[in-house]
Amino acid sequence: MTNAAALLPLPGLLGFSPEEMTELVTSFGQPGFRAKQLVEWIFEKRAASFEAMTNLPKPLREALTKAAVVRTMTLTQVEGSADTTQKILLKLHDGRFVETVLIPASPALYGEKSDRLTLCVSSQVGCAYDCKFCASGLAGFTRNLSAAEIVEQVVQAEAHSGQRIDNIVFMGMGEPLANFSNLTRAIEVLNADWGIGIGARRMTVSTSGLAPQIKKLANIPLQIRLAISLHGASDEVRNQIMPVNQKYPLDELFEALSYWKQHHKQRLTFEYILIAGINDTLEQARSLVKRARSVEAKVNLIPYNTVEGLSWQRPDEAQQDAFLKVLSDAGIPATLRREKGHDIAAACGQLRLKHETGLGIIESPIPSKRITIGTPGT
Ligand code: SAH
Repeated sequence: MTNAAALLPLPGLLGFSPEEMTELVTSFGQPGFRAKQLVEWIFEKRAASFEAMTNLPKPLREALTKAAVVRTMTLTQVEGSADTTQKILLKLHDGRFVETVLIPASPALYGEKSDRLTLCVSSQVGCAYDCKFCASGLAGFTRNLSAAEIVEQVVQAEAHSGQRIDNIVFMGMGEPLANFSNLTRAIEVLNADWGIGIGARRMTVSTSGLAPQIKKLANIPLQIRLAISLHGASDEVRNQIMPVNQKYPLDELFEALSYWKQHHKQRLTFEYILIAGINDTLEQARSLVKRARSVEAKVNLIPYNTVEGLSWQRPDEAQQDAFLKVLSDAGIPATLRREKGHDIAAACGQLRLKHETGLGIIESPIPSKRITIGTPGT
């Protein structure tokens, strides 16, 4: 097999709809009910290979092996402990890596129901959006994840933890709305009764603010939740730290959010990292009040977690409190999380690939510079 072929994967069944499975199975001259069995093996019984699918005829299993794959990822490393945040490193078929973060509910996040598990899922390898404070984009953009790769993060995390995932947040590496069709297919599979079966209300897509895609996502008839990584309440401040704002300035973003609101009942969330001297002034807080009020959003304030290689700092606690007070005095639902590494956005926002040495990519400390050292077999 040539390297080019090794990098072209067979399609992953975790990203298939039942209709597509039927098409595949009938293309081998097999009756349609075999597709139903296949769906059960993949999603209900969580078979990891075609060999395990013992009630499928051997010729069908052999044909499937040549046409598609069941799993494509290898769990490579786990950081953290089961009672706190666990980062799971998954190796992809092409030697790249993604991280997915398991977050047990803390009472602060989910009230009494403390056995809830949230998974923070990645949507891309790297990120092209270049938010100045974020670790994920430091090495630039590599590629989109397929729908199957997005779903497999959940399957792998459930297998690892031995528990069902209750909530999904698309707050891992990458910009989910820049991988729109794979994202929406993954959401469909994660939500479907025949699939993973997670309620739409328990899935949150987080975006840096791709206005047209927000509207497109709003048209999908599922009550998923939306979080906006706002981090600045005026164009002047937001332009400094989020280049995406030059493409979709706040007025355009908020026009898309109003559209979203017409189709969704649940509150919008604004993620707002507090960065000292950048976006933490009380004037910004007052602008944030107006912005949040205009679309009835709640605000999650997250003191910035320092990233190696970046000079941004979190403001001191007095400044954090003063910022929060402006919001609460104005009646905006707002939270401020101090627990380091425990907050969802903070835990996920620090994802950064450091592991791509095995198959030829070494992360460079200089953003978007990569050194390729050749792949095995070349
Ligand atoms: N691209 C999407 C999905 C990534 S979500 C988005 O921007 O929403 C990851 C979240 O973590 C975002 O809200 C991001 O702004 C935040 N984040 C990034 N770096 C962080 C840091 N160092 N400390 C705290 N939060 C951070």
